[in-house]
Amino acid sequence: MLTTYKTKLTEKKLLVNNVYIFYFDLVEPQELDFIAGQYLMLKVPKDTGFVSRLYSVASSPKARSKLELVVEIIPNGLGSTYLDNLSIGQEVQFTGPGGVFIVNNLLRKKIFLVTGTGIAPVRSMLLDGMDNYELFWGLKTFEGIYLYDEIKVFNPKICLSREKTLDVVPEADRKYFDLGHVDTCFEKRFGSMGEDELNQIEFYLCGGRSVVESLRVGLLAKNVAKENIHFEKF
Ligand SMILES: Cc1cc2nc3c(=O)[nH]c(=O)nc-3n(C[C@H](O)[C@H](O)[C@H](O)COP(=O)(O)OP(=O)(O)OC[C@H]3O[C@@H](n4cnc5c(N)ncnc54)[C@H](O)[C@@H]3O)c2cc1C
Repeated sequence: MLTTYKTKLTEKKLLVNNVYIFYFDLVEPQELDFIAGQYLMLKVPKDTGFVSRLYSVASSPKARSKLELVVEIIPNGLGSTYLDNLSIGQEVQFTGPGGVFIVNNLLRKKIFLVTGTGIAPVRSMLLDGMDNYELFWGLKTFEGIYLYDEIKVFNPKICLSREKTLDVVPEADRKYFDLGHVDTCFEKRFGSMGEDELNQIEFYLCGGRSVVESLRVGLLAKNVAKENIHFEKF
């Protein structure tokens, strides 16, 4: 069932370039009822009415009185401009939760293939507590990384598509990095795996539309069953 949530912006922090983390307190109702991976619909004022924009909950379902969003601000975007111009203390309304991008089998091995702010719903899933998974996170450059200290705890492989070498990464941290797009990094690690083994895994893809689609098509071409591929296209 969809609920309308009144919230209050408590903090907005620039993470990198045009990516921000927004912190909200729940006002009414006082707790957010959702499953890690789901999204909320942000109510964005437009002309005399409202339009909706979807944002994945990036915070843990264990901290229900708070809501965190990780958002890339798109220049001149309606939702982006609204979020960008919010003042601390301002009331913001969401409806939700929605979506079926949720972990449906905790026991099976899970592989997360995400790019950019596609990390948002996966952050919520990982903060909720999980084992038996591998996280591949695609970003362009080492400088473009955000939430690094907390994501490091999840033993990620951060795939840098625009770096030519890993010399930019401190030596002690290189184990968390690889060069190339997420599909290349995944291929290096799992390329030799056969169809039967791949089908023991649940795949979770999230990020920009075209990237997610190409990752999905790549997995289908390896005969991964479509019910083992879960995805959210931003
Ligand atoms: C289920 C779901 C969950 C999502 N969760 C998140 C999230 O957690 N964090 C997040 O940052 N976004 C998320 N998105 C994307 C978000 O809903 C908006 O689409 C995005 O913020 C742009 O909305 P806007 O109103 O600012 O731009 P709009 O006014 O809708 O678009 C303005 C212009 O920008 C273009 N545009 C739209 N998106 C992009 C883009 N990504 N890059 C470049 N140009 C673009 C449009 O084609 C249009 O020309 C999610 C989308 C879905 C469907």
